[in-house]
Amino acid sequence: APRVAIITGCSSGIGLSTAVMMANDPAKGYIVYATMRNLAKKGDLEKAAGATLNKTLFIIQLDVTKDDSIKRAVKDVFTKHKRIDILVNNAGHGSSGYIELVTDQQMRALFDTNFFGVVHLIQEVLPIMKKQRSGRIISVSSVAGITAWPFGEIYAASKFALEGFTESLSIGYRPFNIWVSSCQPGPVKTAFIANMGSANNQPEFLKLTEEKNIDKESKEVCGMIINRLVNSPTFEEEQQTPEEIASVIKGALEDEKPHLRYATSKLRLDYAKKYFVDPTGDTFCDTIVPHIIPDSLKQKK
Ligand code: NAD
Repeated sequence: APRVAIITGCSSGIGLSTAVMMANDPAKGYIVYATMRNLAKKGDLEKAAGATLNKTLFIIQLDVTKDDSIKRAVKDVFTKHKRIDILVNNAGHGSSGYIELVTDQQMRALFDTNFFGVVHLIQEVLPIMKKQRSGRIISVSSVAGITAWPFGEIYAASKFALEGFTESLSIGYRPFNIWVSSCQPGPVKTAFIANMGSANNQPEFLKLTEEKNIDKESKEVCGMIINRLVNSPTFEEEQQTPEEIASVIKGALEDEKPHLRYATSKLRLDYAKKYFVDPTGDTFCDTIVPHIIPDSLKQKK
């Protein structure tokens, strides 16, 4: 049976690659709803979709910060297929800036997309997946969701929030055969940095050092730290392509028993091992699940 998938933020980057990769695998029978906030930006995806367009890949509008948009998209897909098997929460954006200067509005806007957008969409698909007694949800978090970097406090907080939310959900919905995971890319070659809204809407976090409204000492400290980060020997070699991340996401959706967390590269997996005894999260889940979920509820179909 076709596996009906909704993916957010597909006009570019990781979302676009994931949608195209899934739509191009007839053996798996995916029907991909590649969603985006602004349909005027569908050109790149249409081109990349090629022959799959309107066959296994459909482009529809979905702004994760708008409740009516979320509800309409989910309703349209469900009305057509009477099921939703997969949700990939990819839409998100970065931020950087001196925390003293970040406005409340900027913080809330970032959380609205990176965190509440995910929560609201999941709230909408969960009742459907519960009824089906099956579902797969994977959210694109970040290494900043488990280990934060400096001058990106609000971004890290939004992804940490996403990780906590994912972990809780992942355990509680196993009895409904709904598997919830996150993946943690390191740097990926996308428009992510260019799209970053910093504290003063500067496009790149490197421009933090040009911030006018901060004291000289802060600028110097920030400059030194960012230099070290960006010029570290691993930064260049670590950069991945959106296709590499897409293949991790697709692999996760096809794993028989999905992990809680997916590192996207060996380098990041090794890094995660410093923070988690078992970076897949299986040890944590398998230890805690028997204490929390009664046998009678396990894998109830
Ligand atoms: P990107 O900027 O190309 O993609 C982000 C997409 O999200 C864009 O298409 C954008 O239009 C969309 N989006 C933003 N707000 C939205 C909204 N309200 N509703 C719907 N869509 C919205 O960058 P990317 O690297 O492909 O980012 C995808 C995800 O990967 C993000 O969640 C990001 O936090 C995460 N990530 C990126 C990197 C990186 O280095 N590029 C690293 C770790 C994690």
